[in-house]
Amino acid sequence: MSKLLPLLLATSILLPARAQTTTDWLPPLPAWQGNSEALIKSKGQPWVTPAELTGLSDSPDYAATLKYLSALVDSSDLLMLQQFGVSAQGRPLYVVKASRALHKIAQNPQRPLLLVQAGIHSGEIDGKDAGLMLLRDITQGDKAHLLANADLLFIPVLSADGHERRSKTNRMNQRGPLQQGWRSTAQNLNLNRDYAKADAPEMQALLALINRYQPDLYIDVHVTDGEDYQYDITYGFNEPFAAISANGASWLAKLYRPAVDAALIQAGHIPGPLVFGVDSKDFSKGISGWTASPRFSNGYGDVRHLPTVLVENHSLKPYRQRVLGTYVLLEQSLKLLNEQGKALILARQADLQARPKRMALSFKASEQADFIDFKGISYEVRQSAISGDSYVSWTGKPQLYPQLPLYWDKVVDKEVAIPQAYWIPPEQHSVIQRLKLHGIELSVLDKAQKVTVQQLSATAYKFADKPFESRLMLTEATFSRVTQNRNLAAGWVKVSTDQPLGRLAVALLEPTAPDSFFSWGFFPGMFERTEYFEPYAIEPLIAQMLAEQPELQQQFDQALAQDEALRANPRERYNWFYRQMPFYDRQYLKYPVLIEP
Ligand SMILES: [Zn+2]
Repeated sequence: MSKLLPLLLATSILLPARAQTTTDWLPPLPAWQGNSEALIKSKGQPWVTPAELTGLSDSPDYAATLKYLSALVDSSDLLMLQQFGVSAQGRPLYVVKASRALHKIAQNPQRPLLLVQAGIHSGEIDGKDAGLMLLRDITQGDKAHLLANADLLFIPVLSADGHERRSKTNRMNQRGPLQQGWRSTAQNLNLNRDYAKADAPEMQALLALINRYQPDLYIDVHVTDGEDYQYDITYGFNEPFAAISANGASWLAKLYRPAVDAALIQAGHIPGPLVFGVDSKDFSKGISGWTASPRFSNGYGDVRHLPTVLVENHSLKPYRQRVLGTYVLLEQSLKLLNEQGKALILARQADLQARPKRMALSFKASEQADFIDFKGISYEVRQSAISGDSYVSWTGKPQLYPQLPLYWDKVVDKEVAIPQAYWIPPEQHSVIQRLKLHGIELSVLDKAQKVTVQQLSATAYKFADKPFESRLMLTEATFSRVTQNRNLAAGWVKVSTDQPLGRLAVALLEPTAPDSFFSWGFFPGMFERTEYFEPYAIEPLIAQMLAEQPELQQQFDQALAQDEALRANPRERYNWFYRQMPFYDRQYLKYPVLIEP
């Protein structure tokens, strides 16, 4: 028996007992009050939500959430509950539709549509309980005007299986709710890394929903981990200086952020930017601002021209405060769509119609800082007897960092010329299926066609040494490319970039893009060579080659002289010749997707 066992038993009994009633291991909490507290209904009032019944200290399970929503939907002509998918464990996934014309959502391209998503990480469930309150106030209170000129889709829980992995001890760094769901799905997939590769059934259902309804604004609600600061509601998006969707990003920066910040401040909240400390032990070194790649909601929204806001409520603030802040943010977002939705629709159309010649695939941090007056919390650096290292202990006392350097990911790291098209061989079923899921238009050759294309071959590559999100990713790859005239057979699939989602196609099919199908390991077959030689067959063939091309002997001797590994490896010495024979596997290391420049 392991010597560790008694110790593990002791701690596993001790900790949950404490966690039932307190989070007193967390840093001290500044007192808070705000106008948004008036939003809370209490016991006895009609349509009080399950979370309000607990004073916004706990959050209902899936069944109780759906029970409340079903009753609310039944009570109002403005709401409809629709199943849009099934979780990995078989739970139905629901979206609430809210509109004055429920059957016409998405049929009128001039009418703005907001998609709000809660519980992609189900331990971070603030959006669900805020959304229930807002839907209640729209249908049973005095906020029906929010649907005057805009419609709403609300996903109460995207990761339903994670939501039901409920516990009081799921998230150590977070103040409530009392019972929290789990970050990943039943398949242990993190849905907010799954947008591009779309492996999870929950994500596949979500992409189908997005394509069906074509929302104009997408809000994805989370809770942070990490540093302490005064901000209770932080949010962000790919900024105009690093956005693929320049017009949508500009709308978010110029219209959305000022309006939402003002509403939050008015309601007593402290909105802040979505940033992370550069050095976790020295805040004065500054903060970094992130440009998301398409594995994340905000990066995916950017590359498919769906303006997307990532909300990260601050984990150290109490659940009640976070839910109220989320309510204010959602209400203001809907208000803004009523008032400024036309401008957003025009911005989206401009992005969908743009056909630039080049595209950035990734960004890196600028060495030139911007500066921000940052509302931080002071801290002490303490020495740990356990780790033997120092750690940051937050004091709970506000500290302003005037003109703190902020390093944005705004320097283009990788960039490509956008080709005319990508060509996918018919056997790449999962790639073709994923492209369809993303809403990318494909055309299939019904007869053979001659095309001038570039064939890429991996010249160097490296796989990760362990799986990430259930896939073995490529951590680096370089390619050579040759231009060829190919006669492509019927069944090959053409992905033109001259379409609204052309840049999404580039992000998925340009192999060096960070979230391309290639990077996510969709093409393992190209790294395996099949068909082999036997020495009794290759010996006479090499003899023939040397007889016909005497210069080969000299080249071989030179290679032997320069390469000790080659010298020492009999099989590799054969391989040196084998690679130059027509018998050699011509598909080995070839990227199966062809590029029409
Ligand atoms: Zn999250």
